Amino acid sequence: MANSLLADWDTPFGLPPFDKISEADIVPAFDAALDQARTRIAEIADNPEPPSMVNTIDALELADRDLSRVLSTFYMLVSTNANPALEEMQRAFSPRLAAYSSEITMNAALFARIDALWQARETLDLSDEAARVLMLTRRGFVRSGALLEGADRERLKEVTQRLAVLGTSFTQNLLADERSWSMRLPDKDAKDLPGFLVSAAEGAGREAGTDGPIITLSRSLVVPFLQFSPNRALRKTAWEAWVRRGESGGETDNRAIVTEILALREERARLLGYDNFAAFRLEVEMAKTPEAVRALLMQVWQPARDTALSDAATLTEMLHADGEDGPLQPWDWRYYSEKRRVAEHDLNEAEIKPYLQLDRMIDAVFACANRLFGIEATPIEVPLHHPDARAWEISRNGAHLAVFIGDYFARGSKRSGAWCTTLREQSKLHGDVRPIVVNVCNFAKPSDGQAALLSYDDARTLFHEFGHALHQMLSDVTYQRVSGTSVPRDFVELPSQLFEHWLEVPEVLAEFATHAETGAPMPNDLLERLLAAGTYDMGFQTVEYVASALVDLEYHSGPAPADPMQRQAEILDEIGMPAAIPLRHATPHFAHVFAGDGYSSAYYSYMWSEVMDADAFEAFREAGNAFDAETARRLEDHILSVGGSQEADVLYKAFRGRMPGPEALLRGRGLAA
Ligand SMILES: [Zn+2]
Repeated sequence: MANSLLADWDTPFGLPPFDKISEADIVPAFDAALDQARTRIAEIADNPEPPSMVNTIDALELADRDLSRVLSTFYMLVSTNANPALEEMQRAFSPRLAAYSSEITMNAALFARIDALWQARETLDLSDEAARVLMLTRRGFVRSGALLEGADRERLKEVTQRLAVLGTSFTQNLLADERSWSMRLPDKDAKDLPGFLVSAAEGAGREAGTDGPIITLSRSLVVPFLQFSPNRALRKTAWEAWVRRGESGGETDNRAIVTEILALREERARLLGYDNFAAFRLEVEMAKTPEAVRALLMQVWQPARDTALSDAATLTEMLHADGEDGPLQPWDWRYYSEKRRVAEHDLNEAEIKPYLQLDRMIDAVFACANRLFGIEATPIEVPLHHPDARAWEISRNGAHLAVFIGDYFARGSKRSGAWCTTLREQSKLHGDVRPIVVNVCNFAKPSDGQAALLSYDDARTLFHEFGHALHQMLSDVTYQRVSGTSVPRDFVELPSQLFEHWLEVPEVLAEFATHAETGAPMPNDLLERLLAAGTYDMGFQTVEYVASALVDLEYHSGPAPADPMQRQAEILDEIGMPAAIPLRHATPHFAHVFAGDGYSSAYYSYMWSEVMDADAFEAFREAGNAFDAETARRLEDHILSVGGSQEADVLYKAFRGRMPGPEALLRGRGLAA
């Protein structure tokens, strides 16, 4: 029988035939697709014809399209429904892919053709997009070492391959630690917790085959537990397990991996002629330099720390009033903060949650996208990668735009966190290819027959990931290389964080936040209190984030530390980290930075993007309407449809008429003086 991954996919919308794919097909498909890509690359490099855009840049763009198809399908499976066999394949593929990509960038004949086109670019009559793709392609080669020779060239290859292996080990250790810990919730403690949390803990217990509710290290369980459990000893136990992920001291300990990653990254940057890794990494970002990043973070750090310290004093009084001695501890913050929220804003998560049904919030997401961009979502029945996932066709004025897949519930076999990915990206180089876009979340799965309920944070995540999806689905460029979210890392969170603002538009919650049991809309006073509490605890949230971003930046903008954990402690000491606030991501489980190169020295990107999203949403406010058609059109024309086909600052200025400053962000977080 033909290999299901390599065959022509005669499926609706060209979706992967998930119902026919067997695990036995994956390795042979990977082998064949990788061989085929290698053959195509060799044909481009050895072409006797003089180089042209078509026979070089365009041909390169298309060379690995079958390999991408196999890999995007495989990554979907291994990230959302892993098992030991799939994980073993991932470990085996990653060094082979690193070797393949360094073969390409180290191919002297191929680089000579690209460089010849680059030197002749003024004479080629290129479109702006094609000229940029040529620049990006050449820059990618140079940054991968195409200009290096001899021993330096060999060493760079080794370093790159080793980094890929280390990143995969880091991720797998983290997943192993997350899976290996759980805490049986004693009945006497369960009765103190809100119903949604007990129900989620029971669900986790059933999935683990345990009798009764358990707390696991899934963020959607452990964070509400820390928020609601009055049992200080249990909070401490759960918190310590949660922050010790990747730092167990056993086989899954990530600390030695981190030390090696940092040293190898520095070596790589120096081989390529940069002072340090951050200087190398940030060159391609909107921020451009470590100094620009540090300046932004420190502008936000001081007001955030002041707010957090004053909040800590209030929470410490509450702790002492409960008869507890000593300082406020990290496992106390969320619990007392929740109590204070209830006291000061008369608002608690348990009161809000019945109104935030997953299905209604998905309707809200689609309704906002419809009012802004005129797109429609129609449910479709197609084979998917897991029974919990669902799919919609996205269209506009009757024309197909994309397929959208949502996979929302947590399970033990799924990587933690939430993300947007694609099974196919938009491009027009080889036919009019429309994207298949996936949002993956880790919301607690309800018991059978009950509605899935979200926290307000979860609802924000839902909007966030759909903002990324819009960036993919509205994409309208020629080259996949600059399509959709293929933009600088510190620009990529603009569409996602901007879309979160529509959750705060009162008419959206008024329409879509309806009670799971009674169907009644959220009462007006609750809605008002919820929105008024929007800036609550922003000191804590900003401090935990900015401190993580500074640790990441400092790790990479000087010599690589011999002892990263000690360096982390020094950095926190230098900035005066409040004792009761832990890092949002401590080093041994800082997957953004160590699972791969995605956010290394670029974790600040979320805040950089927030400066822009706060400022961008003000454009709608200034227009007097959160759904202003003209502003939405400019957003689509200058940002959502054009991907990375121009420099990010040029795109932003085209949309807004100027660059943003941090004022709107500080106001939005309630941190403005
Ligand atoms: Zn995001």
